[in-house]
Amino acid sequence: MRILLLSLFILLAGPLPSVAQNSDSLATAAQLRDQAMRGSMAYALVESLTTEVGPRLAGSPADKVAAAWAEQKLKKLGFDRVFTEAFTIPRWDRGSEQAAIVAPYPQPLTITALGGSVATSKTALEAEVVLVPTFEDLLRLPEGALTGKIALLTQKTTSEAARRGAVAFLVRSLGTHSHRFAHTGNLRYDPLAPKIPAAALSPPDVELIERMASRGKPVRLRMQMSPRFSGTATTHNVIADIVGREKPQEIIVIGAHLDSWDLGTGALDDGAGVGIVMAAAKLIADLPQRPKRTIRLILFGAEEISLLGANDYIARRTREDIAQHMIGSESDFGAGPVYKLSLRVAPSALAGFESIMTILAPLGIVAGDNRAFGGPDMTPFRVADVPVFSLLQDGRDYFDYHHTPDDTLDKVDAKSLDQNVAAWAALSYWLAEQEDLSQLRPMIDGAAPRRPAGNYPQP
Ligand SMILES: [Zn+2]
Repeated sequence: MRILLLSLFILLAGPLPSVAQNSDSLATAAQLRDQAMRGSMAYALVESLTTEVGPRLAGSPADKVAAAWAEQKLKKLGFDRVFTEAFTIPRWDRGSEQAAIVAPYPQPLTITALGGSVATSKTALEAEVVLVPTFEDLLRLPEGALTGKIALLTQKTTSEAARRGAVAFLVRSLGTHSHRFAHTGNLRYDPLAPKIPAAALSPPDVELIERMASRGKPVRLRMQMSPRFSGTATTHNVIADIVGREKPQEIIVIGAHLDSWDLGTGALDDGAGVGIVMAAAKLIADLPQRPKRTIRLILFGAEEISLLGANDYIARRTREDIAQHMIGSESDFGAGPVYKLSLRVAPSALAGFESIMTILAPLGIVAGDNRAFGGPDMTPFRVADVPVFSLLQDGRDYFDYHHTPDDTLDKVDAKSLDQNVAAWAALSYWLAEQEDLSQLRPMIDGAAPRRPAGNYPQP
């Protein structure tokens, strides 16, 4: 299977390997891989971050603690320079949130506000709920059809409900589980529609309401939520460099995001990514010799609230600076093992990756396609023409936990983190050692959206 996929790289790329192959760099990559598999510090870092900082919503006091935590750890780990870049973000707090069915059969409900939601009025909001099975069903409703009602549907969009007169919007919590908790997530209001309180409702609660509604009686809900925006806050990208010995100005970016939602402790999203890339960089920093190029670890701030840290990183640099970023990636899909390497580079450069696949293959990693996403924080990088790679992880249970109170350390497996570290260390080091990385450009279709636009709205 591996041979077959490797030959696909070659087939796509033509006969000439264009990234020079270097047996020394492969040997060192294999050594980094094996060292990581014997045990890395990734788990200890996730344990420390989730225990000593915990939830770290961008702009909150804990967010500042997280940046200080990162800076202090990185300084201890032996990077050549550690620095932060501060930027300003809107500050949003969840406040309190409660909901209940008041008729026909009173019962409590489990909701959570979507990030950025407005509050209900000080007194609780009470209204009849209208079940809308699909977004198409919602669009078919005439204006005013939801006047004074709470709209409940399975897709996350609020503006169409507000246009039809709804006073609040509930969405069946996104996720792959049936637990009685709700997933938060980012929300974007349509500037042309009224802003109404928006929350996710746990899947069992949605089914409870459906059963009551099927008895033919109106179902009335009471909701109280007090989220609010309160001015601005300062947050940070925390950056650490292993400065290259031959081409220090050329940069390989390895990233993760430091902020989390406020409900869990951000163990999977994205404590795991933070631990993986920090531990990988640490292994490279401990080598007797620096790699040819600079490896830059970026712990992005404010990812969950629209990639504000990644946008700030790009915005404060010139096009020439960005052109020195040769390739990048972000680890942001939990703690499951890596199974595939995908790229987004010039097709002619693909064949050059054949040799590093021989180092990654023993980890169970196969060659993927040339349509890598690179991770959410790589979005503005891709748009700015920075090639990316993705070390794709097994995320079958990722959406059971992410953005919920259940995103906690017990879901993280240390051995699986070590396998990630092995792949990140070997690949990052090998990239930094290549003769000529200018051939990775122009990558294919860097601005191509890889997620629904509404998921990660740009400011
Ligand atoms: Zn994330």
